[in-house]
Amino acid sequence: MAGLLATEGLTTGYGRIEVIHELSLGVPEGSVVALLGANGAGKTTTLRAIAGTLPVWRGGVYVDGARIDGRSAFEIAAMGLTLIPEGRGIFPGLTVDENLEIAANAARAGDGRLRDGRRRRVLQMFPRLEERIEQRAGTLSGGEQQMLALSRAFLATPRVLLLDEISMGLAPRVVEQLFESVSALRDEGLTIVLVEQYLTYALELADICYVLAKGKVVFAGEPAELRNSNTLASSYLGSA
Ligand code: ATP
Repeated sequence: MAGLLATEGLTTGYGRIEVIHELSLGVPEGSVVALLGANGAGKTTTLRAIAGTLPVWRGGVYVDGARIDGRSAFEIAAMGLTLIPEGRGIFPGLTVDENLEIAANAARAGDGRLRDGRRRRVLQMFPRLEERIEQRAGTLSGGEQQMLALSRAFLATPRVLLLDEISMGLAPRVVEQLFESVSALRDEGLTIVLVEQYLTYALELADICYVLAKGKVVFAGEPAELRNSNTLASSYLGSA
């Protein structure tokens, strides 16, 4: 299996219904991998199985070649796989500052100076958050909450960031800003797996794309190949 993160023959589902069938994918270190596909194709389910919030039925998930499926979601997060789920994952009742503080304290890299440096970097990347540092997170706009979720994830010094439709429910202008932030995170060397409906941004950012349909990989390759493949785009991606 290739890459920092990989799945081999990953099979899972809900109750007795198998939703993901023998899915294999590889995520090289420092790359952005996009998981694409129509609604219900199984993108979120794949991320959940990788992150350990859904049990793997058959096959495996590997980090640096070592098998990690079967471990708890907590253990997997502690190994540096950070999932930002649809719906964000911030503490709405706490201030922006407190949200960042908690993430920094939970970081794998315990070095205080490194943490302070990362925090400064985050506030440079997201100046809007600095302006709202004492504001309760629940009172931020949707886009700002998503920026806070990304900042928290960055502070947690992940090895792989798993982003599940971070653009969900946001205005196009806000989505554009958000993708600039994701691009900045990529430039920091982060490895990112991205589930996204906004095809244009996903294809711009990604090094490798996987298109899923009915829980199977129907395309794996570079964005340029996918762009040139009209049939695939129209069959599996709808009008996104
Ligand atoms: P979307 O873009 O709509 O989120 P997706 O590609 O992420 O789509 P999944 O959410 O992974 O798709 O769903 C894959 C399949 O699993 C769908 O048929 C869906 O109905 C089913 N499914 C998802 N969540 C559950 C659940 N909690 N219980 C039962 N079935 C589910």
